[in-house]
Amino acid sequence: MMNAVYSGTFDPVTNGHLDIIERCSKKFGRITVLVLNNPSKKHMFTVEERINLLREVTKDIKNVEVDSFSGLLVDYMKKNQVKLIVRGLRAVSDFEYEMQMALMNNRLYDDAETVFLIARNQYSYLSSSIVKEVASFNGNINGLVPKIVELAIKEKLKGV
Ligand code: ADP
Repeated sequence: MMNAVYSGTFDPVTNGHLDIIERCSKKFGRITVLVLNNPSKKHMFTVEERINLLREVTKDIKNVEVDSFSGLLVDYMKKNQVKLIVRGLRAVSDFEYEMQMALMNNRLYDDAETVFLIARNQYSYLSSSIVKEVASFNGNINGLVPKIVELAIKEKLKGV
């Protein structure tokens, strides 16, 4: 079975991400959830914190591992001999960016293919940023992120 990377920012992991991870873990070989370190974006969690949360919430899924990378996704893929990229698609609004990334990655690495899993209905509006925004105004984020992520967000917000 083919190994795949599921790359993203995961700041922090949501139930939508977790659903994609669970679904592709049943279809592919080893799934590497890859936290891409993008210094131009402002984050709530450090890369280490994001990795730790991802490891914790995926610990019961045998073929899932978590890693991080600074630089081009295709360079990580070449180095680790992975040729498949998994991404989630929520709405048409995701499509333009995802298509651009898929085409560019394929241009940079001919062997790279991107597959898209359509987000489940109940998560199609869910993003890390909207969860952080709702939480920052004390809104209820129960059910949108795993419990430990909910606690971690609350802990972060105490500090600001
Ligand atoms: P990025 O900054 O690379 O888009 P994200 O962490 O926001 O990183 O998302 C990583 C991947 O997961 C993307 O392909 C994104 O479309 C997908 N994704 C994000 N939220 C959801 C969700 N609720 N359901 C399904 N896929 C999602």
